[in-house]
Amino acid sequence: MYLVLNYIYLKKTIQDTELVTTEEREIKKSPQKGKIRYLCKKCKTLITWSTYKINVKDKFIHVCANPHGIIFEIGCFSYAQNYVPVDSPTLEFTWFPGYAWQIILCANCLTHLGWLYLSDKDHFWGLILKNLIEDKRL
Ligand SMILES: [Zn+2]
Repeated sequence: MYLVLNYIYLKKTIQDTELVTTEEREIKKSPQKGKIRYLCKKCKTLITWSTYKINVKDKFIHVCANPHGIIFEIGCFSYAQNYVPVDSPTLEFTWFPGYAWQIILCANCLTHLGWLYLSDKDHFWGLILKNLIEDKRL
């Protein structure tokens, strides 16, 4: 009896593992699948997917204040779309040492979405979470 139960447990574990693997493979093929879409809060333009959430300095969310004392809660993403950059990148007052920042606006309604951060090696997007909405419908 014990052996049978053990076998069923083992079989279930293997099945679960396989399911996760299949899903991960699907995500690589189609990043949108099964994931949350992030839209511009004002006009609902698609900006990015939860698949592209990344940790920068070990955190996804960063709370930062600009020189005027305005506080922003931003989430870090490795990909964003449908935005327009404003001005040239600058290292002045950067929240991420070594990364120059550039303001980005929604390409459709010009809402301030956040910043593109650029270094010699890589880049990422810091998006203002209150200016986005999560869309779980697929
Ligand atoms: Zn917009």
